[in-house]
Amino acid sequence: SKVLVTGANGYIAIWVVRRLLEKGYAVRGTVRSESKATYLRHLFSTYGDKHEVVVVEDITKEGAFDEAVKGVDAIEHTASPFHLNCDDPNEFIEPAVKGTTGVLQSALKYGSNVKRIVVTSSCAAVLEIPTSPRVFTEKDWNQQALKEVEEKGRDALVMNKYRASKTLAEKAAWEFVEKNKGSIGWDLVVLNPPYVFGPIIHDVPGPDQINTSMAEFYNTLLKGAKDEKTLATLGNCWIDVRDLALAHVLAIETQEAGGNRFIVSQGTFKWQDFVDAAHEAGVYPESALSKGTPGAGYGPGVTHMISYDTSKAAKVLGLDKYISKEQCTKDSLEDFKKRGW
Ligand code: NDP
Repeated sequence: SKVLVTGANGYIAIWVVRRLLEKGYAVRGTVRSESKATYLRHLFSTYGDKHEVVVVEDITKEGAFDEAVKGVDAIEHTASPFHLNCDDPNEFIEPAVKGTTGVLQSALKYGSNVKRIVVTSSCAAVLEIPTSPRVFTEKDWNQQALKEVEEKGRDALVMNKYRASKTLAEKAAWEFVEKNKGSIGWDLVVLNPPYVFGPIIHDVPGPDQINTSMAEFYNTLLKGAKDEKTLATLGNCWIDVRDLALAHVLAIETQEAGGNRFIVSQGTFKWQDFVDAAHEAGVYPESALSKGTPGAGYGPGVTHMISYDTSKAAKVLGLDKYISKEQCTKDSLEDFKKRGW
């Protein structure tokens, strides 16, 4: 069967495309311009006509995906802005929300074969910055970022503009399904990953063009972007991009998943953990790596303000084993090194 993947040239999406092709699916990816299609066509050339790329120039335009959804059996919608240059919050919110509802609307009208739509949301749509350690579940929604963006507009923190865009986009998806439940032939699955790290296979000409999450990883491990205290105290939760790609495959293959959102997370981290893993990996010389205080990310004195209950993804999707920090770090560094970075 054939799967449509939107934003196929992105860091996460290109791994989703790869895993789908490896599992025997035909894949149609969308990108914003012809020049972005070339790299994908070359990377997946061995798959012949099982892999195609189409251009959807502006995902906010009505009917943008009308042609792209024709003849596909499932959709993975990943396209959404994730960068840190945003003035007016609508620069994020508009493509996030209209992109999502646009895909669903096109699937309603022209996706007569579509059975399942997976939307790549984020833990950004789940978490709120707590005042004491808190375990979040799929029942939680980020109201905090919405409130800040409503109150402060352009002056809101850029991460909260991003979080608001992801929250509003996911809410819009569930509302669309509720409103159209009588007339849609498909169901919705939403994936909520935290920080995503791991090897890069999309087109990144140089370190200054890395996608947002891996840019932080690269700059923290190899460019000394965080001081010793920050390395030991700042953290969050994370998942390897290859596990997230697998989750996208499971999300279209698991019948019972329909109508659910799933938090997919390996667990907590402090940046120091990845720095320590980088030293263990032996890929770069010690002198090229940040150091911090080895071991400071672990131990009884370390608190994690945000963590996630991932039992639902384990139970329903069968996602119960995750790639480790050590493996993720080693593979990512080897990838950087191969590129001469
Ligand atoms: P990338 O920046 O690598 O990919 C983003 C994709 O979305 C690209 O294909 C990009 O196209 C497309 N896109 C961005 N803005 C627009 C826009 N205004 N109109 C149309 N297309 C657009 O990021 P990731 O792979 O990291 O992100 C993919 C998805 O995963 C996003 O939905 C993101 O919110 C989500 N996510 C990411 C996490 C992470 O840590 N990386 C964590 C949790 C969720 P183009 O290349 O043309 O700009």
